[in-house]
Amino acid sequence: MNVLHTDRLDIESLPRGAVSRVALELVENALGGAIRLPILVARGARPGPVFGLTAALHGNELNGIPVLHRLFDRIDTTKLRGSVVGVVVANIPGFLLHQREFLDGRDLNHLMPGKPDGSVSELYAHRLIERVVRHFDFLVDLHTASFGRVNSLYIRTNLDHEVSGMMARRLRPQILLHNPPSDRTLRGTAMELGIPAVTLEIGNPHRFQRRYIQASLVGLRGLMGELGLLPKRKIAEGPSPVVCRSSEWLYTDRGGFLQLGPDVTEFVAEGDSVARLTNAYGDLVTEYRAPRAGIVIGHSVEPVGQAGARILHLGHTKSGPDRLVKEL
Ligand SMILES: [Zn+2]
Repeated sequence: MNVLHTDRLDIESLPRGAVSRVALELVENALGGAIRLPILVARGARPGPVFGLTAALHGNELNGIPVLHRLFDRIDTTKLRGSVVGVVVANIPGFLLHQREFLDGRDLNHLMPGKPDGSVSELYAHRLIERVVRHFDFLVDLHTASFGRVNSLYIRTNLDHEVSGMMARRLRPQILLHNPPSDRTLRGTAMELGIPAVTLEIGNPHRFQRRYIQASLVGLRGLMGELGLLPKRKIAEGPSPVVCRSSEWLYTDRGGFLQLGPDVTEFVAEGDSVARLTNAYGDLVTEYRAPRAGIVIGHSVEPVGQAGARILHLGHTKSGPDRLVKEL
């Protein structure tokens, strides 16, 4: 397979009706070698928007990678209008170290849009925006839970934004979380550049999870139909996503061993037990209860915790047995 080595994303120069493999130089490493992003570009036979996807901006959040591989493997470029651009690994140093953060320990998703004359992470972030993301008309940023935690398949975005909200709903995850972009995330920076954007959280870190990957692909195919990139297709997709207008993390206030109760996508009522904390002798220290009704968006899987350890991410929504969550 031919790989085009370049330092700019020039979609117009790529062949129409084909998928191209691009190795895009962002910065030089200490030995003067290029750090290159692996990027897949499907250019349709006809003109249209640029649909951008980024995976592994946190280097250990891997489920987005096979999502992109399969998306580009299946894409019919003869039917495609516009282009689809998939950054397979956005944080190269973090990915190679199997870690969330960049080389200098900083979180790339908290320092966007970077700085042209900044630190190693700031310069890298700046080039990622300028050389790649700026070319997008839409962005889906693919993440997973952080190390020691698990997630459902859920979306964070500003649901009140006409286009971002539509994108989120059409992706049909299990849960939609209204989350106006906080400063300095990739999603927030894209929105400031006028690029409607959503963050798709796909399950757990350090893993490839087949069901989440497949459900993400079905959602993305539906979204591309909605955005006019591909012909619309009707697919039976199960229950609508559960919408949360806000959410909160619950934390311990004592140290000990944590035993979680509910799993992701389970509803809890106010006062339901969500975790038990025991001490080094096996005695029950305390039991944590849901402060209000909601749905478990994600939770910790780390049993050992100092006071202040995360318990679970509770999405605020009406609970009840009448409400269905899309099964994965
Ligand atoms: Zn992430």
